[in-house]
Amino acid sequence: MTFELRELYQEVILDHGRAPRNFGKPDRVSHEAHGNNPLCGDKVTIYLQVDDGVVKDIGFEGQGCAISTASTSMMTEVLKGKTLDEAHTLFHRFHALVTGCDESTDGEDDPNLDCEALERLSVLSGVREFPMRVKCATLCWHTMEAAVKGHGEPVTSE
Ligand code: ZN
Repeated sequence: MTFELRELYQEVILDHGRAPRNFGKPDRVSHEAHGNNPLCGDKVTIYLQVDDGVVKDIGFEGQGCAISTASTSMMTEVLKGKTLDEAHTLFHRFHALVTGCDESTDGEDDPNLDCEALERLSVLSGVREFPMRVKCATLCWHTMEAAVKGHGEPVTSE
């Protein structure tokens, strides 16, 4: 990756960290869950309104570091309007992306994969060099999955 591209990615992360999208609780909420990353102190609550298997609305509250806030903000942007299957697929691909396990081409033809959304999320792939930061970036996704599955149990990155 060129220096310029890294700078750009940094700028996107900072922008989302400063001005998070979809911050706050939506008017209608069908699923919610809390997430906690004690290593960094990130806390997040993810709210979803799911109708007929589609994420109609999504929002979040909480406090976290710039990476955690930016990742949550970006996740809410890409998940709005997605089916739960698509959300689940993106979660797995994003997880592979930030943990550096994306060499596998499994699921390359997955009809549920929104390549454009994954491309947007790839700005966070730099965290793979910082294992502590991987938890910051994935906390919101684990929390979203827990909300959808309706466990009701708080999620912890541990
Ligand atoms: Zn963090």
